[in-house]
Amino acid sequence: MIVVLSKGISLHDKELVRIYLKDRGFSIREQGFGEDSIIGATGKGVVDIRELGLLPGVERVTATSKPYELVSRETQSEDSIVTIGPVKIGGARISVIAGPCAVESKEQIRETAARVRESGAVLLRGGAYKPRTSPYAFQGLGMKGLEYMKAAGEEQGMPIVTEVVSPELATQMNDLTDMFQIGARNMQNFELLKKVGSLGKPVLLKRGPSATIEEWLLSAEYLLASGTKDVVLCERGIRTFETYTRNTLDISAIPVVKGLSHLPVIVDPSHAVGIRAKVAPAALAAIAAGADGLTVEVHPRPDEALSDGPQSLIPDQFERLMRDIEAMAPVVGKELLRTPRPSLPHSAGVKAIAAITGSIASAVAFCGETGAFAEQALMRAFGEEAPRISTESFSGVFDAVLDGSAMAGVVPVENSLAGSVHENYELFLRYPDIAMVGELKLRIVHCLIGDERATLDSIAIVRSHPQGFAQCRTFLDKHPNWQLEPYNNTATAVASIAREGAIKVAAIAGEAAARAYGLKTLVSGIETNPLNYTRFVIISRRVGDTAPVPPSLGSDTPNKASFVFSVPDKPGSLFACLKVLSERGINLSKLESRPIQGQPWRYLFYVDVNIPEASNVFNTVVDELKSKTEDFHFLGAYRASL
Ligand code: PEP
Ligand code: MN
Repeated sequence: MIVVLSKGISLHDKELVRIYLKDRGFSIREQGFGEDSIIGATGKGVVDIRELGLLPGVERVTATSKPYELVSRETQSEDSIVTIGPVKIGGARISVIAGPCAVESKEQIRETAARVRESGAVLLRGGAYKPRTSPYAFQGLGMKGLEYMKAAGEEQGMPIVTEVVSPELATQMNDLTDMFQIGARNMQNFELLKKVGSLGKPVLLKRGPSATIEEWLLSAEYLLASGTKDVVLCERGIRTFETYTRNTLDISAIPVVKGLSHLPVIVDPSHAVGIRAKVAPAALAAIAAGADGLTVEVHPRPDEALSDGPQSLIPDQFERLMRDIEAMAPVVGKELLRTPRPSLPHSAGVKAIAAITGSIASAVAFCGETGAFAEQALMRAFGEEAPRISTESFSGVFDAVLDGSAMAGVVPVENSLAGSVHENYELFLRYPDIAMVGELKLRIVHCLIGDERATLDSIAIVRSHPQGFAQCRTFLDKHPNWQLEPYNNTATAVASIAREGAIKVAAIAGEAAARAYGLKTLVSGIETNPLNYTRFVIISRRVGDTAPVPPSLGSDTPNKASFVFSVPDKPGSLFACLKVLSERGINLSKLESRPIQGQPWRYLFYVDVNIPEASNVFNTVVDELKSKTEDFHFLGAYRASL
């Protein structure tokens, strides 16, 4: 039974209500619940509800038929929405949590966070304290692991959720975590529930492998009764006679719990099935059954994982799963939740570059129109508010940076499907005073964009950059009657439709271009291969002879460098250069040869390398390379984008 007290109830009247209930055999617990202050009364007491309702300071009395009250739909009919920073769970959205089973190293969690974020995960998961069945198995990195995870989450704009295994650790971990996870093995660790509930943070409560739904809801009741308002339930498979899968995913628990409780329910398909190939179908089934989200284990190299490798998805599988969820969401009346990704505050980027170049301009230049992918990259690096100059050609970007009207520029140098953007490599050679100072990789998702009234049937003409057509070949092949019209830039193609307002013309471009011109996205994600990335570099004026220290786009010291050179036309000359890298332990991440214009059958090599931590080694390497090459251009040193 729940007694809701009036807002202004006096201490005296409250005490009278307590005494009234206790005298009639109830155990009571008082707490705030949303806006209200309530008293939950449990036990076998007998009371006249009308009489209780007439006591001074009592607003209303709700009798519940269940042993749990605060979690019950009888107490609150509308869905609870749990908020963790920018993330919401519950209501008409699907929120996806992803990350490794355990944090294994700073690099592993950073890399995983970047990959799952790119695919649309909004919360980062990872165990720092792992309750393992065997005492000899990896137990987690502890507080160090939590620090790594927090930093990785901040870098990607993702709050973090991590398992807490004891009341003492809950206090220690409180400042570093955004949401606590109570693991399946601890679902009925009541001291832990009370402690974690009292900290007031959102909690993800896993269902115990042998717990009934009622026991699970009673554990959630402990959390709410101890003080937190935000609990998300997580079905992660229960123990049955079936041994093929690690556990048995109780799909029917989703609609059952949603009927019994107002709390959001998500599903962990990874621990439920325990087999990588079965995770995605189980995840989709959970969404179809009404789950408010998922928590999925993802590892960049599952074969090397220290725990739960066999059930961890590789990032590409997770990417595909997210696309399937996005396609399925409207069927269940929901939308996949996306949260904004962090960008460097403009002022920080400007200051960093201005400190190097002494530039007083604050604008950043890009080639194309509003909504172009280069503008997306620019906003990611310098902030949405960054003042910008758009140019009609790539050389326009170099000119703006050189003449000082822009303090930096953003140009594409490589696409993962189409290869290098040679025009820009050639511009670096023509503009020796311009250097690469930062790098950024942008996922390219193409959409079919048209007028509000356009449909797939009304379209006869499609406009885009030839790259847009090439990257959406499979989709376009399904519409052989469409006439393709090439444009200079994908955003320019979209702008032309906005001007003409015709329903028979559509464009292939990014979602941002549709938004910029108020047009409709008819189909999203039409690129043939979803692993479609473009590498942009940030350019600024070179200072002195040496490569400029890059602005802290990401962090600290440069770890990647690019250069272009040619080699003498004699046996072993390229080998001699590669030998320098090999002997100094320098990793070569790109090597490409290109014809030199005006010199038939002579070639330039485009090279990217990783810079080792001891940078004095690197300076020696550069000197050695200069002595073995003919035309050496150091394009810049910068922080590699993940
Ligand atoms: C986990 O999510 O890392 C975990 C250990 O899950 P469970 O408690 O469901 O076994
Ligand atoms: Mn795990």
